[in-house]
Amino acid sequence: MNTPQPSQSTWDAVDRALEQWLAPQDEALQATTMSAERAGLPRIAVSPAQGRLLEVLARAIGARRILEIGTLAGFSTIWLARALPPGGSLVTLELDPGRAQLAHENIDRAGCGEMVRIVVGPAAESLESLRAMCAPPFDLVFIDADRERCLAYLEHAIALSRPGTLIIVDNAVHRGRVIEQGTGEPSVEGVRAMMDAIQRHPRLKAAGIQTVGAKGYDGLVLALVGDAPRAESDPLDILLRHDAWATREVLRACAGLTDEQWHRRFEIGPGSLHDALTHIVGAMLRWADRIDGPPTELRPSIEGDVQRTPAELLVILDAAAADLAASAERARARGLGTEFAVTLAGQTHRFTLGAALVHVTTHGMHHRAQCLNMLRHLSVPGVSDRLPEIDPLDWQLQARA
Ligand code: SAH
Ligand code: MG
Repeated sequence: MNTPQPSQSTWDAVDRALEQWLAPQDEALQATTMSAERAGLPRIAVSPAQGRLLEVLARAIGARRILEIGTLAGFSTIWLARALPPGGSLVTLELDPGRAQLAHENIDRAGCGEMVRIVVGPAAESLESLRAMCAPPFDLVFIDADRERCLAYLEHAIALSRPGTLIIVDNAVHRGRVIEQGTGEPSVEGVRAMMDAIQRHPRLKAAGIQTVGAKGYDGLVLALVGDAPRAESDPLDILLRHDAWATREVLRACAGLTDEQWHRRFEIGPGSLHDALTHIVGAMLRWADRIDGPPTELRPSIEGDVQRTPAELLVILDAAAADLAASAERARARGLGTEFAVTLAGQTHRFTLGAALVHVTTHGMHHRAQCLNMLRHLSVPGVSDRLPEIDPLDWQLQARA
């Protein structure tokens, strides 16, 4: 049997009922809708039921800072602003100055003027400036402007987020057109590109939901921003990567030295650049084996009679960094509190895996300082006066660039 599917007239009636039950509008909200009608604006504001959904979501996550892209007459802005606690704030971006002015009046009438700032102009530019001024992260971002640019808006939204930020994208189903391939239409291609990006993005966990109602058939995407990638946030990962990178930078600085300079003796640490850098890499290899423990045995030391060029040492460094990172990953799986035995100068000691990893990833630091000192003493123009900046913050800036 073929039951007739509910259609637009049912959706309208149900939306009216939902509104009466759950999302009653006060005069300010009604006046906002009327002002938009009078100004001849397209009827593309969220419905009252959807406005209430935005309010409930904002309250559920305890949002204190909200960003909205696409203001129109301020209807969704008011629902969102009313979810804010005292001291909360909302920034909303609108291209059209006339719409922004109308929204301004509506938002004031609704009593939200103090917490809302309307920024007039192309949203992409306003988002760039928010990033440039290092605005504190937003707790909730509502993307509801031109579909063709929604991927760019999503990327800006993530950059302006913290772990736990909720990004809501309106009109993501586009009356079902979202599944049409190769239309060449910017609005369809825009939403599809955003979906692909969300699917690939390591930090996003997202849900998509189709909606019907007074606004017809469309849908929302809700994307939750997760932790930054481990290499950007986890202390052990940062130590491992920074240490290898910093030693690489020092070896690169040595690449332009003559053989004599590379082996010049100093009363500093292991005695020459060659010896100090070989010692740093040698320790990485040794500790990778020690951390793995039996049945892994210590491989032969590289700190012997063989002499290597900076380029040869760079190759060994890359292998050592990969080995150490793999040992660290296994150590994490065993638990960083696990104790293991190490024999140093004939004496056996017990360390936690965590202590050993911090030791090996910071061991290079003072030897690198010795290297920089030797490089300075060599007085080689272009090297000694341009020593590399290699602290962990330099690493993070370079890794992102
Ligand atoms: N969020 C509103 C509806 C927004 S409609 C509500 O639910 O009440 C989309 C708005 O985005 C329009 O007012 C349009 O002028 C604005 N817009 C379109 N392109 C834009 C752009 N490039 N930059 C900023 N705003 C833009
Ligand atoms: Mg919309």
